[in-house]
Amino acid sequence: MGIIIKLENVKKFYKQSRALNGVSLTMDEGEEYLIRGASGSGKSTLLYLLGGLDRPSEGRVIVNQKNLAELSDEELAVYRNRYVGFVFQFHFLLPSMNCLDNLLLPARLAGFSTKVTQDVKSRVLALSETLNVSHCLTKFPFELSGGEQQRINIIRALSLKPKLLLCDEPTGNLDSENSQKVIQLLRSLAREFKATLVVVTHDPLIAESFSNQLLMRDGILVTN
Ligand code: ADP
Ligand code: MG
Repeated sequence: MGIIIKLENVKKFYKQSRALNGVSLTMDEGEEYLIRGASGSGKSTLLYLLGGLDRPSEGRVIVNQKNLAELSDEELAVYRNRYVGFVFQFHFLLPSMNCLDNLLLPARLAGFSTKVTQDVKSRVLALSETLNVSHCLTKFPFELSGGEQQRINIIRALSLKPKLLLCDEPTGNLDSENSQKVIQLLRSLAREFKATLVVVTHDPLIAESFSNQLLMRDGILVTN
């Protein structure tokens, strides 16, 4: 099953700011989208709402004809676990687990059978080889370089074949050559899993290659 997304006049207010001030958009299954915009324009807030990490103050976030706001906290947690992969600039690997355990955590949380967990493990091992981090699996995150941590993070995001892959400045702390590599990798993996890919970046070189471009300014989408 694919994922089709529709935002209807979505607003998100914090005490001091209007992070999102009426965003409407649709995203198609398997497409790739790039979001640009100045710092503070609401890009991360938009990703959090798409990923069910937070709820809008007003408006509706609809995924496969379901309004995420109408899901219970538990249903929303299942949505995040089963449908969404997150790749953020700041890695969220758990420091007390080695990398392989970090990679298998989403499968454990999903409560899969031994067989399905084994399939996830095979995929995670294969991806580790593709991304040249097999040697990292028995290490703890603090023993890895920034680039290695990032690749482990990407593998974890992809471990359950998410239908929606959300990347918030995923190349923020990489040089331009490695940035290109990471983006190409995210794109080819998203294609392979038929996932919808949403990438936030400041990098103009990366941005220009995406066919669907969204530009944010002061909490709204503006046309390019
Ligand atoms: P971007 O990712 O484009 O830099 P954000 O979505 O992080 O922008 O933030 C948009 C606006 O909302 C900013 O003014 C920011 O300070 C504010 N904001 C974001 N998150 C919070 C929060 N948890 N509490 C209060 N204000 C927030
Ligand atoms: Mg941000």
